Amino acid sequence: MKYLNYPAGTFVWRTIAGTKSLSSHSFAIAIDINVSQSDYWRSYKKGKDGSIKFRNSIPVEIVHIFEKHGWIWGGRWYHYDTMHFEYRPEIVAAVKAKPKKE
Ligand SMILES: [Zn+2]
Repeated sequence: MKYLNYPAGTFVWRTIAGTKSLSSHSFAIAIDINVSQSDYWRSYKKGKDGSIKFRNSIPVEIVHIFEKHGWIWGGRWYHYDTMHFEYRPEIVAAVKAKPKKE
């Protein structure tokens, strides 16, 4: 429960940090779970080679429950945001329908 208590927000009309694009929070399709238990790529320095080291403390069980119900997780992005979940059933359905390469 410590990962889900004190969510940081759902609907907020705003842009994605560092961009001019509207955040999915602007359309009330996203939730940020507990900030104090999450990791955000902008919070850390890049490596000497410019790479971004992935960090995460959100249990995979929480991620799987959201994904089972049509949400995507910001922890799967290169520019990760592990508190962020977004309701995008159309993306989840497209990924499931995509034929697997062998
Ligand atoms: Zn968010």
